[in-house]
Amino acid sequence: MSVFEARSFKNHEMVVFCHDADSGLKAIIAIHNSSRGPALGGCRMWPYESDQEAIKDALRLSRGMTYKSAMANLPLGGGKSVIIGDAKTQKTDKLLKAMGRFVNRLHGQYIVAEDVGTTVENMDLIQTVTNHVVGTTSGGSEDPSPATAYGVLVGIQAAVTHALGKQDLKGVKVAIQGLGNVGMHLCRMLHEEGAIIWATEVSQSRTKKAKEKYNATIVGLDEIYDVDADVFVPCALGAAINDNTIPRLKVKIVAGAANNQLAHSIHGEELSKRGILYAPDYVINAGGVINVYYETQGYIKDVAYRHIAQIYDTLIEVFTKAENENISTSAAADRIAERRFSSNTSNEDDATITSYTPKAHNL
Ligand code: NAD
Repeated sequence: MSVFEARSFKNHEMVVFCHDADSGLKAIIAIHNSSRGPALGGCRMWPYESDQEAIKDALRLSRGMTYKSAMANLPLGGGKSVIIGDAKTQKTDKLLKAMGRFVNRLHGQYIVAEDVGTTVENMDLIQTVTNHVVGTTSGGSEDPSPATAYGVLVGIQAAVTHALGKQDLKGVKVAIQGLGNVGMHLCRMLHEEGAIIWATEVSQSRTKKAKEKYNATIVGLDEIYDVDADVFVPCALGAAINDNTIPRLKVKIVAGAANNQLAHSIHGEELSKRGILYAPDYVINAGGVINVYYETQGYIKDVAYRHIAQIYDTLIEVFTKAENENISTSAAADRIAERRFSSNTSNEDDATITSYTPKAHNL
């Protein structure tokens, strides 16, 4: 396979193949675009079936980070790294340090963070050989899930204001799919805002908690699509919005934390044809990356959360553009992101300006 010809290559600036014979490390660091700043992105460890699969994943994920950071108004580019191997059996300290040394050789052009198959402890170890790492114990930003949930809450408010003309979430009916790290925090925040909650989740201890503490009505895993709610909130796996589920949705809004919510981009068009407002996933779920970015600035929670609250304005911009240009919200978000990273504009100064006022949510 030619890397340059790969579908997911799409104008990458740099792809680095890393090999360390001593530890057995085989890794790829992909930097898609650095016009807004250094490329920040997680390090995924996964037993890819072939080198091609690993390359494809690194290219796809790093490109996604360029769009996400641009829409989050971060002075960052997009990058990602993948380590080829099984995190359960092949992840050794030696291997992680070798990875850290490769990151260090890029002198800050790539900043590494945790991802699937890596942990905060792994980032702590990597920090012993490079400073170009975030999401460490000493970084101070801690678990990203409450930050992500807060961004989604703000995003739901933007969608509710735009689609329903309501300035708060009191009495708004939400159907949450997945009460994991993000979903449970979000369930709490929505309850505190006065939303009426339906939820589904595989784990019974989690459904019990949501029912008892947040007054959620629990429905079956497949029933969540049929709930007569205002907002469908995907917080579990990807591809929840597909040919089978779209015709069942009764909601006016789809807005949640899950990555890759649309099975295919065509499903974004399908939602808009049906008058369902979709908050593009990579815009609404950027709270975690915004939060961890502030480790590079000396982490202050209030500053990070004020920046996360900007997701409100960004989504209003996306919804308005989609309406004005008669395109889907996903297409509108992509166009805004492309303008931002192509014109090399960093909106860092906007970081504390937002029309949305964060409320106390025991964040
Ligand atoms: P998680 O694994 O903690 O939670 C996912 C939950 O979904 C689990 O509790 C799981 O039991 C449940 N689940 C699985 N299949 C389900 C189904 N069919 N129906 C209902 N529930 C189901 O993950 P998370 O960290 O909460 O992340 C949730 C989503 O948000 C993921 O797609 C993730 O990629 C995305 N995301 C997370 C963050 C973050 O900060 N954690 C940031 C950006 C995006």
